[in-house]
Amino acid sequence: MRIARFSIDGNVAFGAVEGDKPDELVLDIIKGIPFTDFELSGTKVPLAPLDAKSRVRLLPPVLPNKVVAFGRNYAEHARELGNEVPDAPFAFFKPATSVIGPGDEIQYPSFSQELHHEAELAVVIGRMCREVPRERVKDVIFGYTCANDITARDVQRREKQWARAKGFDTSCPLGPWVETELDPSDLTIQLTVNGGQRQLGRTSEMIHSIEDLIVNITEAMTLLPGDVILTGTPAGVGPLNVGDEVAVTIEGIGTLTNKVIKRG
Ligand code: MG
Repeated sequence: MRIARFSIDGNVAFGAVEGDKPDELVLDIIKGIPFTDFELSGTKVPLAPLDAKSRVRLLPPVLPNKVVAFGRNYAEHARELGNEVPDAPFAFFKPATSVIGPGDEIQYPSFSQELHHEAELAVVIGRMCREVPRERVKDVIFGYTCANDITARDVQRREKQWARAKGFDTSCPLGPWVETELDPSDLTIQLTVNGGQRQLGRTSEMIHSIEDLIVNITEAMTLLPGDVILTGTPAGVGPLNVGDEVAVTIEGIGTLTNKVIKRG
């Protein structure tokens, strides 16, 4: 099931996305919160194309308490930036305030001259968990969505900690919705800028599996429903400029599109 979070006439709700054609999608409004047992209300509203001025607007599919992102999890990407492939997973945070939704604008910050895109598969956590054994990882996953780990690459090189380089406002587009029934082990992940392909990879190329990543982070901390794990980016990262339209597409999920503007 595809579960979207959206606003309608100023109210926020979750809905199950029905239909296949982008112009004909319908949201069946969910009663309650989708992380627990929920029911579909049967009340349906059309989801117009994402950029239309309709009364329905998609929001970030979850409001995470934290986004835990893993770096250098695809060998070719590690090499393209001149980095070693790490033996163990290594994590950093993107704050809740970095999250934006489909169609929202990425604001180019004034302190960077080199903004990069990074297409990533995002795992959405469904229940509170800590010290999750490998065989229980499936039980704590709610579903999957697309992410773009927007990075101020010049700042990342310059500053030892990545809090500013990867944590600035609007640096974590998520969406367009969460797919709850998906085998994530071998999906095509691609990214285009203004329609031209920049990144293309498969999730099967990850060095550390989703199980590895969730075991690793929950050794250290509690994850909460709605928390998001970013699983690393395939090769092909590169610059974004003001005015660019950047789109992440993951097989079986959909496309997350955002435009880059100058921060006002
Ligand atoms: Mg990344």
